[in-house]
Amino acid sequence: MDSLKRSMARDEKRFGREYDLDIFNIVAVSDFNFGAMENKGLNIFNDKLVFAQPATATDADYENIERVIAHEYFHNWTGNRITCRDWFQLCLKEGLTVYRDQEFTSDERSRAVKRISDVVTLRSAQFPEDGGPLAHPARPDHYREINNFYTPTVYEKGAEIVRMLATLLGEAGFRRGMDLYFERHDGEATTIEAFLAVFAEANGVDLEQFKTRYLQAGTPRLTVTDSYDAASQTYTLKLSQETLPTPGQPTKQELVLPIKFGLIGPNGSPMGWSAVSGGEVQDDMIVLRDASAEITFSGVANKPVPSLLREFSAPVNLDTDLTQDDRLFSAQHDSDPYGRWQALQDVATALAVDAATGKARSDAAVDGLSRAMADTLAQQEPRRCLQGAGFEPAGRSVDRADHRQGYRPRTHSRGP
Ligand SMILES: [Zn+2]
Repeated sequence: MDSLKRSMARDEKRFGREYDLDIFNIVAVSDFNFGAMENKGLNIFNDKLVFAQPATATDADYENIERVIAHEYFHNWTGNRITCRDWFQLCLKEGLTVYRDQEFTSDERSRAVKRISDVVTLRSAQFPEDGGPLAHPARPDHYREINNFYTPTVYEKGAEIVRMLATLLGEAGFRRGMDLYFERHDGEATTIEAFLAVFAEANGVDLEQFKTRYLQAGTPRLTVTDSYDAASQTYTLKLSQETLPTPGQPTKQELVLPIKFGLIGPNGSPMGWSAVSGGEVQDDMIVLRDASAEITFSGVANKPVPSLLREFSAPVNLDTDLTQDDRLFSAQHDSDPYGRWQALQDVATALAVDAATGKARSDAAVDGLSRAMADTLAQQEPRRCLQGAGFEPAGRSVDRADHRQGYRPRTHSRGP
């Protein structure tokens, strides 16, 4: 009940959506072969996603209950009042509703921990699918069995596509599009094209190339190299993208990639620039639309360390020529928590691989990793609890739950 009340409050606040009936039922069913199902006014759940006993439930159980109750409730607008014209549009309601439940958890708990845990899920479940024989677009164009549509690509990659749309349009622009979507399509069974059209119209932008994201399978590889010219005080990033062929799609088109970034100066502070040329840069975001771009920043007094793909702003595999020292520097100074986490992962993984392959251990690198981890722990952001939730199950430390469960693999409980 606590999860439901907070879901309702959040949907009113974030998306202006109120519940429309006098009654809302949550039904728990044992031996339910899905996670849950959003039947209008009567949401049905696998009982493990409703019942929790403090003596036996883990922190992750509580988080999953909160998340899935929210997900099914959010379907009342994105799934029930506006539904799918046909099965091929499944991502219209699922990608969007997963995005909405991710934002709910981010707002209620820790945004950084939630993002990191979603990236871990995406890379462990969706990237392998996207790179293997079962690769398919977020909007598939054929099927043998409808149950096969309930995939990490339709759900998690679908959510990433909506997230990129929100990143490209900004919070206000995304809300304008959502408002128009609800206004125009309430009561309809509609399509992904119609969904994109309202964002294009509400913001006066062309989303034709962006639509490729829904139609093209595969995870792009983004390669970035950098160079610094001290004499002219210019810093250059060379970017290129490539998506390898997937079954049934031998040739790939270039995708729109929103790449959030920052430049970190020698003292660890953010660095600015006086002018930029050679590519599309909007504040803290590079938008790559072509196969490659060479972007030059002027008025850069020292060689910076780049923080690339902040917040994991696009689902890609990133290749850079950053050194281990650069990564250790990012691990200590990046203001983006995801970037800091990724840098720590990269350094630790490289050390583990070296150790496993019998290479001599670099004590300096191990010390650097320890220091970076210690700095991160020392600089912990103010804790954010479930204050105002109005309900705290006996025997459970909400505060602890808030900070410990982000690194656990997410339970794959889903339903229509
Ligand atoms: Zn769903």
